[in-house]
Amino acid sequence: MSIPDIRVGQGFDVHRFEVEPSGSRRLVLGGCVFDGEPALIGHSDADVPAHAIADALLSAGGLGDLGAHFPDSDPRWEGADSLEILAEVSGMVRADGWSIGNASVALVCERPRIAPRRAEMESNLSTAVGAPVSLTGRRAEGLGAIGRVEGIAGFASVVILR
Ligand code: MG
Repeated sequence: MSIPDIRVGQGFDVHRFEVEPSGSRRLVLGGCVFDGEPALIGHSDADVPAHAIADALLSAGGLGDLGAHFPDSDPRWEGADSLEILAEVSGMVRADGWSIGNASVALVCERPRIAPRRAEMESNLSTAVGAPVSLTGRRAEGLGAIGRVEGIAGFASVVILR
């Protein structure tokens, strides 16, 4: 019996909230728009869980990091839908011969409330990855920049195999 080649990848992302609302950005997490919430600043739509999972996938496959493939300097990714970036990264990993087992992502934020939109975010992310994605939300308990509601951070893990 051959032993499958199984690898794990870890990913991280963080974006800060706009201090002065530009009016042109919306808060997007896991492909869900949160109306009435402050938006995150970023070159793309600043979708933290999508970026953290994409980072984890690239890491698992030894394919470099997200910034190398989707640089902030590239106008192609300005305002990009990060679910499309995530789907593209998933395709890159599969093109290298891997199957994606699952992804798990934890968001750390004081707002918005995650639970009411969790299923919708998991569904959007799972579709983009083509494998099950689970998402959890945690508060920073008032500690540090995230606790002061200055931004949102995300930590992701993925398993790939071939
Ligand atoms: Mg990012």
